[in-house]
Amino acid sequence: MATMKAVVFERKDHIAVREVPKPAPGPGQAVIRITATTICGTDVHIVRGEYPVKAGLTLGHEPVGVIDALGAGLEGEYQVGQRVIVGAITPCGQCFYCLNGVSSQCGGPIGGWKFGNTINGAWAEYLLVPDARANLAPIPDGLTDEQVLLCPDIFSTGLSGAESGHIRVGDAVAVFAEGPIGLCATLGAKLMGASLIVGVDQNEDRLAIARRFGADVVLNPGDGDVVSRLKALTGGRGVDVAIEALGRQETFESALRSIRAGGTLSSLGVYSGKLVAPYEAIYAGLADQKIVTTLCPGGKERMRRLMAMIAHGRVDLAPLVTHRFALDDIAEAYDVFSHQRGGALKVALYPDRASMPARTATVVEGTDRDC
Ligand SMILES: [Zn+2]
Ligand SMILES: [Zn+2]
Repeated sequence: MATMKAVVFERKDHIAVREVPKPAPGPGQAVIRITATTICGTDVHIVRGEYPVKAGLTLGHEPVGVIDALGAGLEGEYQVGQRVIVGAITPCGQCFYCLNGVSSQCGGPIGGWKFGNTINGAWAEYLLVPDARANLAPIPDGLTDEQVLLCPDIFSTGLSGAESGHIRVGDAVAVFAEGPIGLCATLGAKLMGASLIVGVDQNEDRLAIARRFGADVVLNPGDGDVVSRLKALTGGRGVDVAIEALGRQETFESALRSIRAGGTLSSLGVYSGKLVAPYEAIYAGLADQKIVTTLCPGGKERMRRLMAMIAHGRVDLAPLVTHRFALDDIAEAYDVFSHQRGGALKVALYPDRASMPARTATVVEGTDRDC
């Protein structure tokens, strides 16, 4: 049996590079050779045992690669050797949820998220892609792997926070936490036409990057109450839309307190434990406010749109990829990412060490400070 290298979840706080069977595609499935992938904050939740997955599962849900093999039924649609990305969420396109317009919930709650959750993921040399016709998205000529690396999850998720918040031209928007997802939400708020974007984070380096991604004002909670400062910036009313991009009670509550009557809290965070909404923050439940939650939109058409934004120069996500590692060095990569060492925002992982690009000028200034 052909084998391949993969990074598997063994138990809480333990991942390891292992030799595992190479997948073969069934009807409607494809296998891609992974050329680049990355680590997501959700993977950190998994490794820490905060989100359960089965032992032996290959992690990772952000695949960039080349089609290696196609199952029956895909002839004429794709070719072996074609460069593709696949969304972190892989909807089937045919179930109750997909056909009701919530394809991220394919098959049931959070069901669209399969890679590195319910099936083997992208931290491997090869990846089996289910429902390939709905999910293989060809990479436009001229775009590098790293340029599209954040489309499968971070860009799609961050942008969806702005989209689900239904930001209107002229809105005032606050983004709570400027990690990679918050930065993409900031970018999304700008693309949707917000007139005022306020980035909120405790990390001054991240606030500096938030300015580059479209924040007009940045607020550090360490400098005083964020909610009152947001109200002062909006005529005392509060922001039209607040995007929560961290998944903590404090940021959720601050986001809730910062929206105006009739405003929207668009939530992207992954929460654990109990989430509480104090009655005064929601005006006893009578202020026509909306709370919306969104899982990363996936599918090949979403991926095509995101890559078109990059191909046409509307957005440049390269500054978010601050570090590169060979997949074999996953332990070091995970340590750097999970502790945000050296100003790490996103780390690119390369299954083939020889194909790893040399460092370029796209690396954010000062990120090596702690290395
Ligand atoms: Zn993710
Ligand atoms: Zn479905």
